[in-house]
Amino acid sequence: MATIESILQENRVFPPANEFVKHANVAGMEAYQALCQEAERDYTGFWARLAKQYISWHKPFTRVFDDSNLPFYKWFDDGELNVSWNCLDRHLTTQGDKTAIIFESDEGETVRCSYRELHQQVCRFANALKSRGVQQGDRVVIYMPMRIEAVVAMQACARIGAIHSVVFGGFSAKSVHQRIVDAKAVAVITADEQTRGGKHHPLKVTVDKALALGDTDSVHSVIVLQHTHADIVWHSERDHWWHDITADQPDTCEPTWVNAEHPLFILYTSGSTGKPKGVQHSSAGYLLGTITSMQWVFDYQPNDIFWCTADVGWVTGHSYVTYGPLAIGATQIIFEGVPTYPHAGRFWEIIQKHKVTTFYTAPTAIRSLIKLGVDLPKQYDLSSLRLLGSVGEPINPEAWMWYYTTVGQSRCPVVDTWWQTETGSHIIAPIPGAIAAKPGSCTLPLPGIDVAAIDEAGQPIKEGKGGFLVIKRPFPSLLRTLWNDPERFKNTYFPTDVAGGRYYLSGDSAHCDRDGYFWVMGRVDDVLNVSGHRLGTMEIESALVAHPLVAEAAVVGKPHEIKGESIVAFVVLRKELPDKEEAIKIAATLREWVASEIGAIARPEEIRFGENLPKTRSGKIMRRLLRTLAKGEAITQDTSTLENPAILEQLNQAV
Ligand code: ATP
Ligand code: MG
Repeated sequence: MATIESILQENRVFPPANEFVKHANVAGMEAYQALCQEAERDYTGFWARLAKQYISWHKPFTRVFDDSNLPFYKWFDDGELNVSWNCLDRHLTTQGDKTAIIFESDEGETVRCSYRELHQQVCRFANALKSRGVQQGDRVVIYMPMRIEAVVAMQACARIGAIHSVVFGGFSAKSVHQRIVDAKAVAVITADEQTRGGKHHPLKVTVDKALALGDTDSVHSVIVLQHTHADIVWHSERDHWWHDITADQPDTCEPTWVNAEHPLFILYTSGSTGKPKGVQHSSAGYLLGTITSMQWVFDYQPNDIFWCTADVGWVTGHSYVTYGPLAIGATQIIFEGVPTYPHAGRFWEIIQKHKVTTFYTAPTAIRSLIKLGVDLPKQYDLSSLRLLGSVGEPINPEAWMWYYTTVGQSRCPVVDTWWQTETGSHIIAPIPGAIAAKPGSCTLPLPGIDVAAIDEAGQPIKEGKGGFLVIKRPFPSLLRTLWNDPERFKNTYFPTDVAGGRYYLSGDSAHCDRDGYFWVMGRVDDVLNVSGHRLGTMEIESALVAHPLVAEAAVVGKPHEIKGESIVAFVVLRKELPDKEEAIKIAATLREWVASEIGAIARPEEIRFGENLPKTRSGKIMRRLLRTLAKGEAITQDTSTLENPAILEQLNQAV
């Protein structure tokens, strides 16, 4: 591919505060560089050291890295461990009474669960799974509300060596069915219903529908958590209440020791760019990535109250709810509800109530919270916060600034973490006690991670231009394959037409500035080609979001006879939807704004307004659908991961 042009100038820099550096796990640039140099000198030795330091092994490994059959690599592959033992048992003697989870329900009640109690719950449920005949290597689909039991179910699978596949509770019967069939699951764990934002949503009914779609004979057990006491249909030969099958189980359970490479879980990607991929992760390598990133990026301190708002249905909820915080012995919040119920200040209220220190959320949440009240956070006591994080999409510099100044009160570092379902843990992110932040940049790669922006031939791209964002060496927490589909794994991530298939291809484009900072420019598939200029989506969208009227924006290309492509922008305003006359005026203002902010080449030809944008259920903008709308064509792509189908209709109205 030709390179991508960078047109956005962002010169603000925020170095770490001295006060923060003093107590940081990685304190100062030299400490960061020392780690990077250690990895450069002896790549496998570096990871071996960390794996010995942070993981408790049942049988220590002697082999570190096996690259004899690339792209199928292995790490620590003659070692044995149990991930649940690492998350629970090893804390019992040192801090059994420490709170592991502070659960905040949709309606605002709080339940606290210590490491000892969580251990007992996991053991009881693990024994129950065994009593149902679930064995090591079996696949178990988990379709649960965001409650403590979701973590218990995942940890219990890990404890007995069963491979979980969590399906987000908002997905349809069709998605659940597809995941059951793909994995030939033996059991499904669910609840009668889930409650979010004061509303009840069926889960068990959806599982019943999924199982009725056929090809599901592999499933011998459906285990149901009783939550809302809703009326549900019962299939007595197949269905079991959670409370019944755990009632008489002992509260200890010897963990099943598994090989380091044993698959811990399968998880499907968000489906922003196409059909979701069944990403398969290892046990040890994955666990290690979650722990090192908790240490480095979240700068974990023993008194932290850690809150990652992601649902366990996404990789962020796997790595930074179920595994990372527990493996490191943290206290964390699990929140069942939504940011806007019962009021728009709910997130801030929870931070105040539980004295949250570390808050990790997504740009989509940040942008919608700005829309709901720019000054709302100021009504709450957020003085407990010491670190803020962002994940899921590029964060537009203006949204970053709001997060930093209004939520973090210009005191808390913001860590913009770039990573993917496939990478298992953070890849590029500012280590907060070491690296100065620049709004909109995920900054520098973590120690031991070798990333670059390259062209097709594999050559690094010079400053100011973007290219393929690749990872040059497999590291421990990188996916091992796509479940059941090694060919798709090879073709998707190591295609021979980019750098001869030597590097892991992320699918994102990025550029690197003179300080070596990375700026993610969007998806490679979304790059626009306007009059011979190749432009990423992120910079144009960020220019739009920088206008005080705009809450969110997505840009796509539309075929144009002369220019090749013209730019169509879909915009959500901070105020309500404008009428036709006003829309024309605002569109004209915004077109000129973009032209003056970043150049005439980026001026949108057409602007359409909506109350929202089409998003995946994890909150990411689905530009591929907007591209079809911009062309005026009917949507025929996979929309199973789309959150809000009605919005397509609204955006279809041209200005
Ligand atoms: P699919 O691969 O099915 O299209 P997806 O890529 O959205 O779905 P995820 O693995 O959930 O699925 O998301 C990873 C992607 O999210 C990254 O490739 C990147 O495009 C985007 N992303 C995540 N964090 C950041 C970040 N901090 N900055 C920029 N982009 C990010
Ligand atoms: Mg992806």
